[in-house]
Amino acid sequence: MEAATVPVQEHISAVSLFGVRVHAVSMDEAIQHILRFVRENNPRQVVTADSSMVVMAQRDDHLRDIINRADLVTPDSIGILWACRRRGFVMPERVSGVDIVVRLAQISAQTGLRLYFLGAQPGVAEQAAQRLQARYPGVCIAGCQHGYFPPESESEIVRRICEAQPDVLCVAMGIPKQEKWIDRYRDVLRVPVSIGVGGTFDVLSGRVRRAPLWMQRTGMEWLWRVGHNPRKISKVMLLPRFVWMVLTNQKAIEVVRNG
Ligand code: UDP
Repeated sequence: MEAATVPVQEHISAVSLFGVRVHAVSMDEAIQHILRFVRENNPRQVVTADSSMVVMAQRDDHLRDIINRADLVTPDSIGILWACRRRGFVMPERVSGVDIVVRLAQISAQTGLRLYFLGAQPGVAEQAAQRLQARYPGVCIAGCQHGYFPPESESEIVRRICEAQPDVLCVAMGIPKQEKWIDRYRDVLRVPVSIGVGGTFDVLSGRVRRAPLWMQRTGMEWLWRVGHNPRKISKVMLLPRFVWMVLTNQKAIEVVRNG
């Protein structure tokens, strides 16, 4: 096992955590990249990577390949920040799916940026959109679609998204379904930016309360999530595995040059 901390901290652009590339971006930088992708109008995929995703990607080559091909991978958990710090690499801050969507909603209200919400139980995306509308009057939600549709409806859903002409497609169907869905349809949809945002609509709709800030900051958010939804236990069970991987194999965390 390696020493607990590494004294010299290196500022980097991306890190490979057990073969999964994560960019060292702050929230402001992530938003700037996303807005640039919108301007460039060439379908891009953004991944919000948490510790469970890194563990899943060890056994799921397809998921790992999608993450490593993505145009931007943000560090969406304290676990990722912690793992990098132990190796002496500084990730600026946590950049979560919920916070990205809120920032984009704010920008949308000012600029007309068109957002599309795909995922969650029926009615949840609409409720999230209504709440954002109340908070940021003028926010442009180009369409909403729940995430429990049969495979035979996919082409119709893709058609509706295309018709709505969003700038950013926010897909909340859980890891790794959302990443694979985006990868599969990205070139057909031709939406400038598609982002996997996990449980974001559940939180923004008010159906799931977000963990208190102190829990988010101390990496205890998982405890809150399981307390509120025991079905999340299988995902949370991946966290001890992540901690074990970090403690026993720090060399598998390395800087990616030109990441
Ligand atoms: N979900 C969905 N379709 C599915 C499975 C899940 O729309 O087939 C939604 C679910 O209702 C929830 C979100 O995906 O809103 C997953 O949230 P979670 O917090 O579990 O995301 P993760 O932690 O995997 O990012």
